[in-house]
Amino acid sequence: QPAPETTGHVTPVMAQFIEIKAANPDCLLFYRMGDFYELFFEDAEIAARALGIVLTKRGKHHGQDIPMCGVPIHRSDEYLHRLIALGHRVAVCEQLEDPAEAKKRGSKSVVKRDVVRLVTPGTLTEDSLLDARRNNYLLAVARARLSSVGEEARFALAWIDISTGEFRITETTRAALAAEIARLEPGEILVSDALYGDADLVPYWRSLPAVTPLTRDVFDSATAERRLTTFFAVAASDAFGALTRLELTAAAACVTYVERTQLGQRPPLSPPMRESAGASMAIDQATRGNLELTRTLGGERRGSLLDAIDRTVTSAGSRLLAQRLSAPLTASAEIDRRLDAVAALVGDLAVRADLRSRLQTAPDLARALSRLALGRGGPRDLSAIRDGIQAAADLTRALDALKETPAEIADAIKSCHRPSRALANELARALGDELPLIKRDGGFVREGYDAALDELRALRDESRRVIAALQARYADETGIKALKIRHNNVLGYFVEVTAQNGDKLMAPPLNATFIHRQTLAGQVRFTTTELGELEAKIASAADRALGLELDIFERLCAAVIAEGDAIKDCAEALARLDVAGALAQLAAERDYARPDIDDSHAFTIEGGRHPVVEQALARDGTPFVANDCDLSPPEEGEAGRIWLITGPNMAGKSTFLRQNALIAILAQMGSFVPARHAHIGVVDRLFSRVGAADDLARGRSTFMVEMVETAAILNQAGPRALVILDEIGRGTATFDGLSIAWATVEHLHDINKCRGLFATHYHELTALSARLPRLHNATVKVKEWKGDVVFLHEVTAGAADRSYGIQVAKLAGLPAPVIERAKLVLAKLEQEDRAAPKGFEDLPLFATPYKAAQPAADGAHDGLLKTLAALNPDDMSPREAMEALYALKAKL
Ligand code: ADP
Repeated sequence: QPAPETTGHVTPVMAQFIEIKAANPDCLLFYRMGDFYELFFEDAEIAARALGIVLTKRGKHHGQDIPMCGVPIHRSDEYLHRLIALGHRVAVCEQLEDPAEAKKRGSKSVVKRDVVRLVTPGTLTEDSLLDARRNNYLLAVARARLSSVGEEARFALAWIDISTGEFRITETTRAALAAEIARLEPGEILVSDALYGDADLVPYWRSLPAVTPLTRDVFDSATAERRLTTFFAVAASDAFGALTRLELTAAAACVTYVERTQLGQRPPLSPPMRESAGASMAIDQATRGNLELTRTLGGERRGSLLDAIDRTVTSAGSRLLAQRLSAPLTASAEIDRRLDAVAALVGDLAVRADLRSRLQTAPDLARALSRLALGRGGPRDLSAIRDGIQAAADLTRALDALKETPAEIADAIKSCHRPSRALANELARALGDELPLIKRDGGFVREGYDAALDELRALRDESRRVIAALQARYADETGIKALKIRHNNVLGYFVEVTAQNGDKLMAPPLNATFIHRQTLAGQVRFTTTELGELEAKIASAADRALGLELDIFERLCAAVIAEGDAIKDCAEALARLDVAGALAQLAAERDYARPDIDDSHAFTIEGGRHPVVEQALARDGTPFVANDCDLSPPEEGEAGRIWLITGPNMAGKSTFLRQNALIAILAQMGSFVPARHAHIGVVDRLFSRVGAADDLARGRSTFMVEMVETAAILNQAGPRALVILDEIGRGTATFDGLSIAWATVEHLHDINKCRGLFATHYHELTALSARLPRLHNATVKVKEWKGDVVFLHEVTAGAADRSYGIQVAKLAGLPAPVIERAKLVLAKLEQEDRAAPKGFEDLPLFATPYKAAQPAADGAHDGLLKTLAALNPDDMSPREAMEALYALKAKL
């Protein structure tokens, strides 16, 4: 948006606006005017359209109306949220002084204003703008310059949750980049202009919601270390462990962006912590989506795995659970450490219940701390810190009753006691019982905390009593009983009498005391010198009291920030305890078992269930049929097995495939699993190819998407991978599809040597098991009953004999004539050589019109058809048509 010109006649306010707007060209400017944020020119047009608010005009610029719209301060969060969600960035420009100050400088003088904050999707801190149950990451992506041709590009990722202070770094490759980003689901992604414009990546960036390209200096590797060490006030970056130059660059980009958007305010960031590549199970974007880990394909949390397993009682716990689900671990020792904590709490209902009820009242420490550090906090954030510290210390008592205290819980207990009790006590002494939302409202410091404040408040309250006395005296002196001293924002304090009494005060001798200020319809208002003096005294006492309160606020704030590391540590411990308690609750509630995790290639699930489908069915009282799955190597040292699963549609193939993948994910995130027993050798990568939709936005058909995803699997899956493939080759002609599926199974078996589940409707593939020793045929059982198919949902060894496609179509409600017709065609097809149906033109479907192909139909059909053929709708009255219909129906 070009900045409006500054030449010609412009008002001083407009000149100020134009200057500030020019400094923030890529943001919508929220320009503070009294109780509103106003937007002008194109900003106003954009915001009015986006928010559905009225676009008006305010004044003229070079003879043209200036488009304007405004949002009231008290609703600004809501509007900000909507604009940010739509991908806009907002610069918030505040009045930096009291308008009265400006007036003192001269009548033409404008109130000082400047931008105090840039609001972008990745840098939000307000509870009202954030989902309490999700992290909101700001992610920077840096790419290494290639030193030789053919070298694979390396990337560093650094991500921050500014609302909690979490800060992480990792390195990755081009191939794994999208999977990493999908895991983090960042609110905003920072890249250099060069990387943004990279031809290879342009379509990818476009497919993401909020990518912010930045000038090169933000990603300058030469200054990166200095920027980072300055931010954290440390001498050298060694303090963060050995980071590569590329990692430093990404981390510095994050920090620089935070500084720019927060205009110097510092969030309490933890030092960057490195996540080593391979520490978590790699799950690509498509797999995450298809398995509906944290949201459904429709984009909602409801119905996702996360939703089904979330029993946390705090927001921080909910965030941590989502994080863990998105990044299951690969180190078995660490997984066991988490499982130990869950196990301890599964075993002790009383401790679990006590812990969870105590957690329920613990406030969100991390986010309160972050707001305070950014100067955006209020009295209630201080009380959250007070209550949080207290709650954490109390809560560990619930854990005293545990028979054994696993390391994970012992560590959390230690962290719960880390924040200084002295700080909590100080806050408890300082803060009142009823706290205002914003500090400028005052009145949050408890009486008795600060002597000077108490004195000022007394003075203020005393003066109010003096006013009441003054009113009584004036009433007495003037003989006007109804005389009142009132207050409003325009006049301040004033004496008010009725119109009849007004004259009395304006005449001698009373006019020596009472100075006329205002005449209204029914009243006349006056002031007096005495009242003026009193007012100044009251105002200054109130002002000074508020000033003192704000000083106290700052002091408490500083004390909290000084304790920041301990508070963050404690907040994290609370979240970890919440997650452990929640997973224990889930396990107890839904009868989950502790999985055995080790570094073998085992994958043995006994009595496994689908965690989401099981809960959905339970709501209708339908039992879920548990099924075994064994992909463990037949002999020690061999590769794992592949199961080829056949069975009709709707039998439960996809459910079975997914449930085994979900069990692996749950196990490795440190949760118990929906199974009687599970033994899993750590899975390092999970691949899936299950029911994709057309990716029309990127110009790919279903078949193309399927093949791209299959290619990625065949190229990347190693012996530790778990692969689930559903109906490969469905989107193309039968023979093509069968051939592709065939070759894919062979490749997985012989080359990838991974554990896998392969569901297919090509029964021909079952022949492969004769040749491939680790391929096992399984089928989902169905029963035929009076021509209908009954699904048993039982997975057993063997191959399906038939597809039952027509029975399923019947269940789906396809019209009866179509079902009958399909049976005919099928019978005809099966007479021919099914493996090589030659001469499609022989098929009745193509050779003859519908009517003639009814030789086997019974007489009723013929009769109906004849009657129908004889009808001529154009010649019939509605009544005749109706009768004809009844006649037809009677023949059935
Ligand atoms: P397919 O992939 O074979 O077409 P699905 O896996 O989509 O079949 O399953 C179809 C439906 O059958 C599911 O929506 C679910 O309601 C039900 N179902 C599947 N597996 C089971 C099971 N093990 N126990 C009970 N119901 C099941």
